[in-house]
Amino acid sequence: MTSQCLFCRIASGEIPSTRVYADDDVYAFRDINPAAPHHILVIPRKHITSLNHAEDEDQAVLGKLLLSARKIAADEGFADDGFRTVINTGEQGGQTVFHIHVHVLGGRNLHWPPG
Ligand code: AMP
Ligand code: ZN
Repeated sequence: MTSQCLFCRIASGEIPSTRVYADDDVYAFRDINPAAPHHILVIPRKHITSLNHAEDEDQAVLGKLLLSARKIAADEGFADDGFRTVINTGEQGGQTVFHIHVHVLGGRNLHWPPG
């Protein structure tokens, strides 16, 4: 927990969010500015600043983020239609909140390459 970190504060419940899924390791909630009909953020409860800051000891939690993303997409009913998982890293990667998060986007045709 980093007291200044927005997503640590969301995961702890200090700042409200629309929770989609939670367990001991991860927390998932709806993006406040959705880029698709379904737009969910999956974060580890552990503060990891970005993928650039992840360590070997984070292997399990990084895997859990992806498996949680798939389960959430299935539970929310859009997995079979297809969806996108995105991790923005660093300034040029488009990261604006520096607590690692997986975007899960679905519910419309998503174009490639992204902007
Ligand atoms: P990124 O630009 O990859 O760091 O993604 C950050 C995401 O967090 C953006 O899609 C924002 O819309 C989203 N976001 C920022 N503040 C909140 C919040 N309080 N609740 C939910 N989503 C948020
Ligand atoms: Zn954090």
